Amino acid sequence: MLVATVQGSRLQAAKASKSQAPFLCPNCQETVILRQGTVRVAHFAHRSTIACAWTVGESQAHLQAKQAMADALRNSGYDAEPEVPLGAQRADVYAERDGERFVVELQHTPIDPREIERRTRGYVDMGLHVAWVSLVDIDYRCFLRPSDIPIPMRYSPRPFERWIEVFSFGQVPMFNPLLGGVLCGKLRAYRTSVPVSEWTERGGAQRSAGGYEKSSRRYADLFCEAYLPLECLQLERSWRSVELRVGGMSFPRGGLAKLTVRR
Ligand SMILES: [Zn+2]
Repeated sequence: MLVATVQGSRLQAAKASKSQAPFLCPNCQETVILRQGTVRVAHFAHRSTIACAWTVGESQAHLQAKQAMADALRNSGYDAEPEVPLGAQRADVYAERDGERFVVELQHTPIDPREIERRTRGYVDMGLHVAWVSLVDIDYRCFLRPSDIPIPMRYSPRPFERWIEVFSFGQVPMFNPLLGGVLCGKLRAYRTSVPVSEWTERGGAQRSAGGYEKSSRRYADLFCEAYLPLECLQLERSWRSVELRVGGMSFPRGGLAKLTVRR
């Protein structure tokens, strides 16, 4: 986690010093250890044996992404902080500016789309505008090379990315914290060709199959709709006016946020 409690106040690991110990987990109130180094992002860690819900799914990439996103939004003039408790939930990044309130959720581990939906409803009911971003480890900088014809990347979307795609009006914001920007990805059907096969049946009849193209169930063609450099990242308010149901997934009515760049 990036934030611990020290004498009743929130303290970010990036700004903490060991002399301020003890640090407490804001969730389970157990003592946590400050970890600062040159390679890993500064964070607090539970002693390994403690079962705390806040340790679930906490990879270095997730910690790094939350810190990078909060820092980027702060540089863009938002009052932004990582890991902010809101009701019964904990927002990965909370950002506020000119009375507009946002939550940015960074998802990397497989999650049931119904869980994303539940969390989104929680935020929407609080009047917040939510952006869901998929954490990826692919190098999407290839999209930055000038090219006359857009070249897609073969990509295997996770079910929650399909949810994000519909939620974000057809775009999947993707973030690799090791790179300097957010990719607004667009998924299109990936066509695979079924090779021709021929055989002879017992009566001597010739049969053949295949020789056509079909959409892959596993892969999609990933295109770059926009690349948003972190240093000019902005959040734009948007609304879904009616509750939407698509293929067993549902999308609450209310506020959402679009990642964009300063113009
Ligand atoms: Zn804890």
